[in-house]
Amino acid sequence: MLVDLDDPIIRGLLINLVGEEGMNVVLKMPDGEVTDEEVSNVTEVPLNIVRRTLYILFENRLATYRRERNKDSGWLTYLWLIDISGINELLDNEMNRLLTNLKSKLDFEEDNMFYICENECGRFVFDLVAETEYLCPNCGEEVVFEENEIIKQSLRKRINELEDI
Ligand SMILES: [Zn+2]
Repeated sequence: MLVDLDDPIIRGLLINLVGEEGMNVVLKMPDGEVTDEEVSNVTEVPLNIVRRTLYILFENRLATYRRERNKDSGWLTYLWLIDISGINELLDNEMNRLLTNLKSKLDFEEDNMFYICENECGRFVFDLVAETEYLCPNCGEEVVFEENEIIKQSLRKRINELEDI
């Protein structure tokens, strides 16, 4: 399966996983099985970052390796192959995780009333400030009601956008 590395969502997910330098490894990775040192030479990314990147890709099932014993030295060589065709499955999982997260945030916003401290100590739920008689639990200043309609709207908008993908 072909993966469009220019797709901003796929690119964003990969950068999240392996970082900007790791992304250079993905983009410039030579074809076929290669050792981490060869990858480092070709991509000009430091060896430790190449290793880290390959390991992260492996953990996410986007790369595989094969061990080969050198006949002369007896040392093991790891031959790596990147295969990011599994990225779509990863993307689905990531999307579901994000959606669940946004929905629970929205539930929390819908189920609570919020108060903020004018000294910017934070944002508190009704139950908490009701106990302190509407005084900031941190500094003792009065708290004021905060309308959260805009927050709820933007959460709903993001949830709808993600569900449409
Ligand atoms: Zn305060």
